[in-house]
Amino acid sequence: MRQRPNRVDLHIHSTASDGVFTPSEVVHKAMERELSVIALTDHDTLGGVAEAQRAAVGTDLEVITGVEVNSEGDWGDLHFLGYYVDPENGLLRERLQTMQDARLGRARGMVERLREMGMPLEWKEVRALAGGDSVGRPHVAQALRKRGYVGTTQEAFDHFIGNDGPAYVPRLRLTPPEVIEAIIGAGGVPVLAHPGHYWAALERLPEFVGYGLRGVEVYYPDHSPQEIETLLGLCREYGLLFTGGTDFHGPAVREGAPLGSIYVPFECVERLREAAGR
Ligand code: AMP
Ligand code: ZN
Ligand code: FE
Ligand code: FE
Repeated sequence: MRQRPNRVDLHIHSTASDGVFTPSEVVHKAMERELSVIALTDHDTLGGVAEAQRAAVGTDLEVITGVEVNSEGDWGDLHFLGYYVDPENGLLRERLQTMQDARLGRARGMVERLREMGMPLEWKEVRALAGGDSVGRPHVAQALRKRGYVGTTQEAFDHFIGNDGPAYVPRLRLTPPEVIEAIIGAGGVPVLAHPGHYWAALERLPEFVGYGLRGVEVYYPDHSPQEIETLLGLCREYGLLFTGGTDFHGPAVREGAPLGSIYVPFECVERLREAAGR
């Protein structure tokens, strides 16, 4: 059999959260694109991982168990990726469940605001669009588009549910130490996601390392070659591993990079495995 090139994408969303494709579809696309290692990193849920791993059985594609968890503190909104976590771990499950529950109440809050603004939606429409465990703003945006209140989901963010939008309702977030602790407690490797979205937070990198942070997502569609060099330098300085991925969601949610479309060195996977004791 022809050896697959070592193509890697360690940041991918599916219908288990706000992605467009099911976990199995993600796996089939990854194989079409001849990737050799992917990680499914849905928001606040591990609910898609088992399906993705089943879909990859008997192939030479590795599907790493992953999750993306937002946090908030005086650092602002930071995202962490957890790799090789044990999906059965009690504390992690409990923290993810808390966030999934909070997402429901918060999405209902946005539906209520939109109704007050003259754009009624049925809660069950939004719930059905979400499907999985993790209801998010992209689902509310899709419902608005289906009703014709907006032409595109982007417009929904721009006018109504973006961070400064009139119908935006914030959601519960853990603090960075709580997120890092839960990932480590579940045997996983915590990595700071897409630091290009919040460069200033990197000043606190030593503090995060103190909580147990093990890596930084260096290779990311929004990071310039120069920024990648800067981030690699920080990783060397603090003894952190580096990862990378596209943050693929599929069409219509957020126009991002196609699955597997950015360069991520295979060394990322080797170091991740080492860090996770695999
Ligand atoms: P939530 O976790 O429910 O607050 O929703 C966050 C998700 O919404 C992100 O992961 C993106 O997929 C999407 N998103 C956030 N901001 C925007 C934006 N300005 N335009 C389009 N999509 C966005
Ligand atoms: Zn998302
Ligand atoms: Fe993120
Ligand atoms: Fe993401």
